[in-house]
Amino acid sequence: MKKTIRDFNLDEKRVIIRVDFNVPMKNQIIADDNRIKESLETINYAINNNAKVILLSHLGRIKNEEDKLKNDLAPVAKRLSELLNKEVKFISTTKDNDNYIEKMLPGEVVLMQNTRYEDLEGSKESKNDPELGAYWASLGDVFINDAFGTSHRAHASNVGIAKHLPNGIGFLIEKELQALIPAIENPTRPLTVILGGSKVADKIGVINNLVNIADYILIGGGMAYTFLKTRGIEIGKSLVDEDSLEFCNQILNSHPDKIILPIDAITGIDISETTTANNRFINEIKQEEMGLDIGPLTVKLFKEHLESSKTIIWNGPVGVFEIDKFADGTKKICEILSTINGKTIIGGGDTASAAINFGYQNKFTHISTGGGASLELLEGKKLPGIEIINEK
Ligand code: AMP
Repeated sequence: MKKTIRDFNLDEKRVIIRVDFNVPMKNQIIADDNRIKESLETINYAINNNAKVILLSHLGRIKNEEDKLKNDLAPVAKRLSELLNKEVKFISTTKDNDNYIEKMLPGEVVLMQNTRYEDLEGSKESKNDPELGAYWASLGDVFINDAFGTSHRAHASNVGIAKHLPNGIGFLIEKELQALIPAIENPTRPLTVILGGSKVADKIGVINNLVNIADYILIGGGMAYTFLKTRGIEIGKSLVDEDSLEFCNQILNSHPDKIILPIDAITGIDISETTTANNRFINEIKQEEMGLDIGPLTVKLFKEHLESSKTIIWNGPVGVFEIDKFADGTKKICEILSTINGKTIIGGGDTASAAINFGYQNKFTHISTGGGASLELLEGKKLPGIEIINEK
């Protein structure tokens, strides 16, 4: 078991918390503040325990000066201050040039500038420059990693700092691990996995790992058509990932009863609001059509497997959910999962935002905050930002 923030006496200590404030921004306005809200529990715990709270986060990718402007963390400091109902001092550089932190009082909160500003010269943050990690560590007494979304990366602001300070995880990472690890290491069965999204290649690692663990893998989304093609089905203009055909063929041959593919589709001529949607049996897709959602027969087939499941892990939308006429499959999966008498875990990224937009935010056991990080956990990989944290 990893140490957590609860295992430290924080009284009057300088506590560096690596948070995930990588929020979507448009013209320096925060489009969705969910990630800031997810960090509040850990930040409030540190404040209530009389810590001097120093927050570090990345935002976007920084390749040039224009990226710096777009990904300035100043608006995040302002929003955080509103949510905490408390002043948040923003240090507009990645270094504490004015020695502000030395003078901090217990209970105060500081947010430093986007850690990836350090990527502009030599990718110091993303390449885990040892001097940078040591410098940030010198600003604190204790390090808490609570940025699950970047924990699959060894960066200066997680692994680099953790090397030098007593460390633990925050409540957000603790919740992620408590939901995800038992679901794959010791699941209550049957365990059913739903995979969707556009690219098979992104999910090969997950399929390879989970095919040995899950009872069923239901495949929807654009990725289903590469599997279907290997079974000789005419898929028209649907997405095909040519480089993954061989993988799909082999995995279907070795697990014919475990991997369940769509039996019908909602098709369109192109991915647009205006195209006419048709429901086709999977072997009746017309040459000029693309499969853009699972059809009602597939929903029914998937439901039969899901209803009896005790653990369900879902990663990737089963259709082009951004367009109303191809969103039904993804909505139906949300609806089915919301009635399951068992554990339901939703992977991050697109699946999480689809489920939240459709009004299912509180209807599952767990919605992961990390897309890439949760995928890597499902692949059975160790996450460096969590591995580096000391055991109890
Ligand atoms: P990914 O980035 O691989 O997680 O895939 C998410 C994207 O897959 C979403 O933007 C969906 O619109 C898209 N998607 C889902 N189903 C299909 C499909 N049948 N054809 C094309 N794109 C799809």
